[in-house]
Amino acid sequence: MSVKFAKSTLLSAALLSVSAGLAAQQDFSKVEITHEAVAGSIFMLQGSGGNIGLLVGEEGNLMVDDQYEPLAPKIKAAIGKLSQQPVRYVLNTHWHFDHTGGNGEFNSNDTLMIAQDNVRARMLSGGEIKTFNAKIPPAKPEALPELTFKERLQLHFAGEDIEALAMPNAHTDGDAIVFFKNSNVVHMGDLYFKDVYPFVDLSSGGSVTGVLAAVNGALARMDEQTKVIPGHGSLSNKAELTDYRNMLQTSIDVVGKLKKAGKSLEDVKKADPLAKLNGQFGDGFIKPELWLQFVYKSL
Ligand SMILES: [Zn+2]
Repeated sequence: MSVKFAKSTLLSAALLSVSAGLAAQQDFSKVEITHEAVAGSIFMLQGSGGNIGLLVGEEGNLMVDDQYEPLAPKIKAAIGKLSQQPVRYVLNTHWHFDHTGGNGEFNSNDTLMIAQDNVRARMLSGGEIKTFNAKIPPAKPEALPELTFKERLQLHFAGEDIEALAMPNAHTDGDAIVFFKNSNVVHMGDLYFKDVYPFVDLSSGGSVTGVLAAVNGALARMDEQTKVIPGHGSLSNKAELTDYRNMLQTSIDVVGKLKKAGKSLEDVKKADPLAKLNGQFGDGFIKPELWLQFVYKSL
């Protein structure tokens, strides 16, 4: 079993449990939290759910995303191996609960929870992720972002200039990409599912064209040395993200042409027009037919 396959299987298992509304009952007992040095004082933590970015400083730590609530004790133990300082800031890349599930557990008097405006709005009201028939209840008050921003937030902390940029209507309507400027690290959130067709949450205001625009914007700020933390998948770089960008562009071009020519979604699925890309991107949890549907409905 390849690493790529194992990862996509984990992800699909997580999302299956979402679709059954059973996230709380998913078996997290076997999940291990691993950490990997990225650059400077930044680490990437992986367990189940979205990748965590961790900036470690003498005055405390900053986390980007916090996976699922039941994993919080394990994530805290993993952070404890790297720092004895408290988590001062948690920055959420978007509202999905495999990225915000731990918010309530990480929020304390020491901690400020930050996200784009629409993340708080969607967590406050709860919602539905239609692709997986998942009804998401309103979040507990302590899990809500306390400081929100519309377009751009800058934070100067632990020797790092951090910039969070909102990316409108992309994976959802509340995505932010987080740039650690001094260390040349970027956390892409779910605007980047490495090596696989991405989930795009159209029912939360997402759009494939928005994902492409966001990835283009992020790429324009990178150089060959930039370390890229994807929302899901292993640590990456500009070259790999460019490859992913090209997949997005090709998908939009090919499906767009067919839709313009009057082809129905069913026609497009039957034609399998992205067959050439399926080998590289089609064995994740978003299968080629579902990917075609995201693209078609976004255009
Ligand atoms: Zn997501």
